[in-house]
This record gives sequence, C-alpha cells and structure tokens, in this order.
Amino acid sequence: MDKPSTAHRAIVTGGARGIGRAIVERLLADGAQVLSCGRSKMPEDWPASAHWVQADVADPAQVKALVAKATAVFGATTLLVNNAGVQVEKTVADSNDTDWDLVVGVNCRGVFNMCRAVLPQMQQHGGNIINIGSISGVVADPSMGLYNASKAFVHGLTRSIAVDHGPLVRCNAISPGWIMTAMAEEGFALAENPQAAIDDALARHPVGRFGQPDDVANAVAWLAGAQSAYLSGQCITLDGGMTAASPLQPGLF
Ligand code: NDP
Repeated sequence: MDKPSTAHRAIVTGGARGIGRAIVERLLADGAQVLSCGRSKMPEDWPASAHWVQADVADPAQVKALVAKATAVFGATTLLVNNAGVQVEKTVADSNDTDWDLVVGVNCRGVFNMCRAVLPQMQQHGGNIINIGSISGVVADPSMGLYNASKAFVHGLTRSIAVDHGPLVRCNAISPGWIMTAMAEEGFALAENPQAAIDDALARHPVGRFGQPDDVANAVAWLAGAQSAYLSGQCITLDGGMTAASPLQPGLF
C-alpha cells in the first residue's frame, strides 16, 4: 500500500492549472509516473514527462476510458488524487437544475466515478486515494450552497472508502482554505469591494498569508508516502489556521 512516492503510478484529475498542476509537478519531481485529465485539450505548457487525457470526470464512460488508458500506459494505478472541482457562487434559492448537475456532477459524482474505477485495481495491488475537499465542507461559505454540500460529500466518501477498502487502500482528504488560484479569485470577485474582502480575509490567517498551490502539493506528497502510513479516513484542514479562530472577537469592541 505505502510505496515511496517515487514509485507511484498516479492519476491526478484536473491537472491543467491551479492546485492540480502543482500536484502533478510535485509528483513528477518526486519520480512518480503521472497521468492527468481535464475537459479541455492538453495545455500547451504541459510537462513532457506527464500523460494527458481529455476527459470529464462527471461522465462514467469517459472515466472508464481514462483509467483504461492509465493502465495501458503504466499499469495499475497506485495513487489517485481527486482534485478536479467546480464552484458556483449561489444560494440554494438561486440555484437551478443546471447548477446542481454541474456541481454535484463534477464534485460528487466525479469523485465517486474515479474511486469506483480504480478501486478494483487497488484492492488487488494496493493503493492510496487523496481527495481534495474544502473547509467549505465543514463551515458554510456564503452564497455557495451546492459547493459547500458537495465538499461535505467528499469528506464523507473519504471516510467510507477508508473504512470499506482498508487495509490495502488508504484514503484521506485535504480540506484547503483560501489557496490563490482562479477559483479563489472568483470567490473574492463576488464582494462589492474585492480588495477590502482580500484585506479582511488576510487578517484572519494566523500564518499571515493565503495558501499557494504548492502548500497543497506538499500535503499530497506526504499523504502519498510511507511517512503517513498510519493515517486513513481523515480530512486534514490546510487553511493557515483560519478556521481555528473563534468567530466571536469581543476583544475588538
Ligand atoms: P481551478 O478552477 O483553478 O482548476 C480546476 C481544474 O479542474 C481545471 O484544470 C479544470 O479543467 C479541472 N476540471 C473541472 N471540472 C472538471 C471535470 N468535470 N473533469 C475533469 N477536470 C475538470 O481550481 P483550483 O485549482 O482552485 O481547485 C482545485 C480543487 O481544490 C477543487 O476541487 C477545489 O474545489 C478545491 N479547493 C480549492 C480552493 C481554493 O481556494 N482554490 C479551496 C478549497 C478547495 P477544465 O475546466 O479544462 O476541465
């Protein structure tokens, strides 16, 4: 189960940009074989040593073909990182059926599709699954009803896979806070005064900065390796201490 990360044959979903790209590059640097996917064509700056398949994780048939391609390229997958995700900034009252299909399709069904497709191999050969959840699955970000709920699903599925598919398979989640990518920028853009929202958010980070994609990639590298061998079924909050604070601050008044 616990290969050194250098020996992994890894699928990372949504590796074209942002957090997924940082994970792909970190795993490559650690010596893993990596295959990634996205709904778009292979990015022009895609690393030569990584494989790319154009695929939508929400579609079970495309996921089946993706895992078959990975098997043909490098054999049984030993590490799956479910990173692909989408965000819709709406309350439940404002959300429509299209929003449901997109957010639940990618963030919930996509993770389920990928896990279901690799688990038969992992149950034979051993494996490690790392899901990218969110602090939004624990505390509610305003105007993100479906997104928040979809990440709570990811956390729940993480525990179920760990419980049902150990000891050959370990499964954990990383729950990032504000990691500076296109997705985080879209969140701040919702504010009437985005700069004031950024300043306020920054002040709420005990470590004094927002997260970077490499912060998540570092956590993935640790979870993928033997040093985290005793950890399974856990959702690790990676938010610079933001949600450690009480929301009540009487000292300010
Ligand atoms: P980005 O929007 O920057 O990147 C998302 C990637 O996922 C894109 O490459 C996109 O490619 C791919 N993707 C989206 N939908 C699909 C799909 N159906 N099938 C395959 N690939 C898909 O997001 P981030 O890098 O910011 O986020 C990555 C993960 O981290 C997400 O799960 C997100 O929810 C989570 N997260 C992010 C936080 C942040 O602050 N940034 C905080 C907490 C969690 P394409 O559009 O071409 O398909």
